[in-house]
Amino acid sequence: MVIRPRILVVEDEPSIADTLQYSLESEGFAVQISGTGASALEILGQEEFALVVLDIGLPDMTGFEVCRQVRTSKNVPVIFLTARSSEVDRVVGLEIGGDDYLCKPFSPRELTARVRAVLRRTQPQAAPAATGPIQAQVTPQPQAGPLGATTPVVVDETRCQIRYFGEVLPLSRYEYRLLQTLARHPGRVFSRSQLMEHASDEPDAAMERTVDAHVKSLRAKMKLIREEVEAIVTHRGMGYSLTEAWS
Ligand code: CA
Repeated sequence: MVIRPRILVVEDEPSIADTLQYSLESEGFAVQISGTGASALEILGQEEFALVVLDIGLPDMTGFEVCRQVRTSKNVPVIFLTARSSEVDRVVGLEIGGDDYLCKPFSPRELTARVRAVLRRTQPQAAPAATGPIQAQVTPQPQAGPLGATTPVVVDETRCQIRYFGEVLPLSRYEYRLLQTLARHPGRVFSRSQLMEHASDEPDAAMERTVDAHVKSLRAKMKLIREEVEAIVTHRGMGYSLTEAWS
């Protein structure tokens, strides 16, 4: 019998928790979900896990606090999920002792690749064999699009950075999330409210109007790198998309 490594996912947003459960289980892990810091600590006090995926913004305490308490008695690897760049600073500063982190929104594929990498590093026997080629690191190379075309927009979710024609765009958090969302489905039109939902932690009506302002400043930053390229297309009355016509 093959023992599947157990992963505890501590995440209060059900849609994210479901997505994580599905993608980790389809990669051969056994997954348990916890929606609060208190229940996570209780579960971790009773059961053994190969790894913990820990959201920082939990309803009852921060993921940092959960990690700190766990670390007093256990050495289980922790991957943080973060929605704020201010949190990234703390994680990266290793103040808390997490093993890795991912910025929301992230692709499930990226998360499973991170989980494998951390398990390989911390307990090589616990990572199930990959079912296909997994890129553990997003390399700053042009990525193949759905039609085999390459896009000059490359999102590095582990660093919360986006490269445009090889250069790192100096983006605000909103701009980063807007472009990250557009880049996930080049050519697909996103409405302002969809973009607002992806880009903001606390979406509100005022934000919807400011999507236009963020898109404007994003465009200006991209123009500084390639003046002649219209990377973001306006669809009147509908929203925005990332272009598929790069040449
Ligand atoms: Ca949360």
